[in-house]
Amino acid sequence: MQPLTLLILQAAGLNFLVMIEKQHIFMAEAIKLGMENILTGNGGPFGAVIVKNGEIIARGANRVTIDNDPTAHAEVVAIREACNTLGSFQLEGCEIYCSCEPCPMCLGAIYWARPEKIYFAAGRNDAADAGFDDEFIYREIASDFQERKIPAIQINRLQALDVFSKWKETDRKIPY
Ligand SMILES: [Zn+2]
Repeated sequence: MQPLTLLILQAAGLNFLVMIEKQHIFMAEAIKLGMENILTGNGGPFGAVIVKNGEIIARGANRVTIDNDPTAHAEVVAIREACNTLGSFQLEGCEIYCSCEPCPMCLGAIYWARPEKIYFAAGRNDAADAGFDDEFIYREIASDFQERKIPAIQINRLQALDVFSKWKETDRKIPY
């Protein structure tokens, strides 16, 4: 939708329609970032934008292969940029628009960042169809750690508990 159309809707008092249209514009931007990534060859076909007070404050595209960073998913890239811009480790009052349903890693990162809302376009099944099997990781998370494909073995628990004891006591902590 053109900015002029948004202005006309606004003038007509149809602000709720403006909001709905803006959501589609933000999502279109996230999808465009994913599409551009195919042309640049920087990484997978995923994009994300973070919005605060109706403005895009951060953009992210997948950079896994160009950065040799398996955590550089579009959402994580965008969260890092947004937090840097805001000077905060929380995305208070923000919305994140993801071109695809966030994978478990990104969903975890989003929950830690605590935006107000998540919008996504393609679903996890669509991603699986394109060769990105997030569904496998979702299944792994749901299973006991002893039964996962990557073996996880718990050791040195008591030693690690000392760290938590220290954390509970310290007055130097910043809760997050
Ligand atoms: Zn992800």
